[in-house]
Amino acid sequence: MSRRPVAQINLQALQHNLARVRQLAPQSQVLAVLKANAYGHGLVRVAQALSDADAFAVARIDEALALRTGGIVKPIVLLEGFYEAAELPLLLANNLQTVVHNELQLQALEQAALDGQLKVWLKIDSGMHRLGIEPAQFDDFYRRLWQCSAVLPGIRLMSHFCCADEPGSDRTLQQLAVFTDLIAGKAEQRSLANSAAILAFPQSHAEWVRPGLMLHGISPFIDQIGTAHHLQPVMRLSSRLIALRKVRAGERVGYGGHWQAACDTTVGVIAVGYGDGYPRHAFNGTPVWLNGREVPLAGRVSMDMITVDLGPNAQDKLGDEAVLWGPELAIERVAACAATIPYELLCNITPRVDYQYL
Ligand code: PLP
Repeated sequence: MSRRPVAQINLQALQHNLARVRQLAPQSQVLAVLKANAYGHGLVRVAQALSDADAFAVARIDEALALRTGGIVKPIVLLEGFYEAAELPLLLANNLQTVVHNELQLQALEQAALDGQLKVWLKIDSGMHRLGIEPAQFDDFYRRLWQCSAVLPGIRLMSHFCCADEPGSDRTLQQLAVFTDLIAGKAEQRSLANSAAILAFPQSHAEWVRPGLMLHGISPFIDQIGTAHHLQPVMRLSSRLIALRKVRAGERVGYGGHWQAACDTTVGVIAVGYGDGYPRHAFNGTPVWLNGREVPLAGRVSMDMITVDLGPNAQDKLGDEAVLWGPELAIERVAACAATIPYELLCNITPRVDYQYL
């Protein structure tokens, strides 16, 4: 029995979620976003399981090269693009497509003497004000990219939504209008929709959708869980009960004595902590799944352990399995109890956690 926390990754659930994306966006190709170690699920294993996707997207070049080293041959898009001209031959040699979002990248492409041509996505800032050229720069970038001998004809056009996870907000439709007006008359392939837009804004699907979170079975909306959208959770993070302690009413538990027993009870100690990626700021009461029921976090999260209130009549035994999140307990709920989002919980999982692919 492993004392270490285990992240079980359900590859069939991943494939189900990809099929769900296709069902929601039947006219679109799928650019599966696998940055940050495929949202903590394991980059190459996830890419292998998603072999039905049309292409993959990562943030950075090292992530793309890890995919190639892992034997992934599908097209890969670098969402942040490249940083310096010296990287361009590497992009070409590894068949990596690049986003262009600034003048330095454009100049590097204009000056490049490559033994081939790169596929380029021009990123437009339609209102998020993070990456992307300003609408006023579009005609200039578009014309110059078409003139670049290092760029394959057929530049693709991309933008990103800031508020698609707020279906009541009109910002998404405003961004869509900015983008659509700007590129009017251009026949290029387009991509805007992240998970939230795939689910809530079908009019934004275009030729390529870019799901990330929903592939892992998780809702991008703050007040919903993935199963409400017919998604299946992919990760199940579990660990073991390694100690049981009787505490009396009024006694305090953990660092800072942050939790106080209201009555005589049993506290269970589970071998997972912030050193594994369990959120340090999870509140007292955050649910943990143990022996068919939810038990509340009781006391501060430590580096290697958490403590839970098992109640006065606990039957739990040393070695019992506790689920921190997974099919039994939605990660969206745990994230809310730690004042964060599921994305962050997933990205914070550390190498101390064992991975099992099912
Ligand atoms: N597209 C871009 C440019 C992104 O940065 C991301 C993730 O943040 C995605 C798509 C996927 O977003 P989500 O995981 O919300 O589906």
